[in-house]
Amino acid sequence: MSQSNPIKSEHLKAQKLLLDWFEKEGRHHLPWRNTRDVYRVLVSEIMLQQTQAERVAKDYYPHFLKSYPTISDLAKASLDDVLSHWSGLGYYVRARNLHKLAKICQKRVPQNMQDLQKLPGVGRYTASAVCSFALEQSVAVVDTNIKRVLLRYFGLHEQNLVLEFANSFLNHKDSRRHNLALMDLGSLICVPKNPTCKDCPLNITCKGRENPELFTLKKPVQYENMELFLGVNIRNKKLALVRSSSKLYNGLYLLPQVDPVEENFLGSFKHSYTKYRLKVNLYKSFDLVKGAKYFTYEELQDAPISSMTKKALKFINF
Ligand code: SF4
Repeated sequence: MSQSNPIKSEHLKAQKLLLDWFEKEGRHHLPWRNTRDVYRVLVSEIMLQQTQAERVAKDYYPHFLKSYPTISDLAKASLDDVLSHWSGLGYYVRARNLHKLAKICQKRVPQNMQDLQKLPGVGRYTASAVCSFALEQSVAVVDTNIKRVLLRYFGLHEQNLVLEFANSFLNHKDSRRHNLALMDLGSLICVPKNPTCKDCPLNITCKGRENPELFTLKKPVQYENMELFLGVNIRNKKLALVRSSSKLYNGLYLLPQVDPVEENFLGSFKHSYTKYRLKVNLYKSFDLVKGAKYFTYEELQDAPISSMTKKALKFINF
């Protein structure tokens, strides 16, 4: 007589409970959940790296796809135009990589893990998300939320075991919804602090539920303080901005750097950008700025500028 494998049957029960929960509580309204278009899913995944889903869903994703509905449209666009669509979203290297990627692909995004990972800015996670969410391939997806759920559910202390456990727990019959369900569980229930285990569909068999935070890996964030001295140079109602070629806001237009002269000091403000904690000091500047482009107020509305520059413009009331 054949005996059933207890681990397998525990997995099957948990998978079913997870999918039932997802059906009722999942974030089905997110626009990229209702498409199988590889390009659209890829855009959403790149935007979602480092940015909250609701923010991407509300503003950036629809606006970006309205301007670039296909990968060919994105490939034909100028980098400046793409960066201006990314304005305020931060981590601009993502926009540059997406643009580069579109130029490489031209018409068709690759349809498998291996080829996707050869593209700029696409790692294992993004490739797996595209393969699972757009192409419905049976592949385990592990983002930060899923990693936290699996660490706790299986009572793991070692991060490098997560992918192995994700693979063994993967529901091959409904892998797309399984991955999305785990992602939403991590985002809505199994949150970093004080998870609501009583509402969790996995709470009966979860090994970490007595002490969830014991299985949460904390990554210390290393902030870098930086002080900037920027000039406000206005000629004929146009403001001078220079294209940044440094790692800070690379490719975007910024106020030019100046030597600080106390009598020209206008004021300062604080701004956070990725790992940087910035103190931005503004000074009046009078000489024509070499290499600068002068923008009218109207031109600035569509220019590729960062939220720091927008804050500075507000500060000087331009
Ligand atoms: S029972 Fe608690 S710790 Fe375990 S997966 Fe659910 S929310 Fe996370």
